[in-house]
Amino acid sequence: MGREIENLLDILNFYKALGFKELPSGFINSILKDRESCDMTHQEAIFESIDSLNDRIKKCFNCPLSKSRTNPVCGEGDNSVGLMFIGEAPGVEEDKIGRPFVGEAGKLLTNLIEKMGFKRENVYITNTVKCHPPGNREPTKEEISMCFDYLKKEIELIAPKVIMTLGKVATYALKNMEGKINDLSISKIRGKVFFYKNIPVIPTFHPAYLLRNRKDKWLTWEDAQEAMRRLK
Ligand code: SF4
Repeated sequence: MGREIENLLDILNFYKALGFKELPSGFINSILKDRESCDMTHQEAIFESIDSLNDRIKKCFNCPLSKSRTNPVCGEGDNSVGLMFIGEAPGVEEDKIGRPFVGEAGKLLTNLIEKMGFKRENVYITNTVKCHPPGNREPTKEEISMCFDYLKKEIELIAPKVIMTLGKVATYALKNMEGKINDLSISKIRGKVFFYKNIPVIPTFHPAYLLRNRKDKWLTWEDAQEAMRRLK
């Protein structure tokens, strides 16, 4: 039996011993309030830096993807450029070594970053969900929403000037998960800048898509140029 339930039973037995047949009014509310403020303090303590956020992600079992992963994959890089890339979810290679964008798609992303005139280590790269979905499938809306607090806090801590979302999953997450994910077409929304908490977000193609559709690299380059303009 969990410690908190044991404590609650002690309190209930105490009231029973005093002859109460019902709980005093406000009892449940006061417990919920204490619990809320306790959780908030806990969250703030946990998420005060990227390192502590990453420690938390590494121990996270909040959603079913914790069962299919080998390694949770945290974001990496710094914010000297002010640019953040957000992908979908770790792939097979990323899952193996626990770093984002390390496979062929990662090489393509690194090329793009260098073509923009930056070093990979000076931009921040992360994923919408931090654990590899089985069979490389798309994360579900529930999984995205269960992992979203981490991404939200990452954006807050990194405070980028510009975000580029790579593919529809990241775009969907930052667009408040409006509607169904399958209704979103990255071809239709790429290049259309929107704002997440006053930060310009530029949706573009995922590098894995570009590996299969090389002709669309030029559209991604247009989106990258828009990001560069906004960074200036
Ligand atoms: S995907 Fe996110 S919420 Fe799910 S287990 Fe991994 S870190 Fe936790």
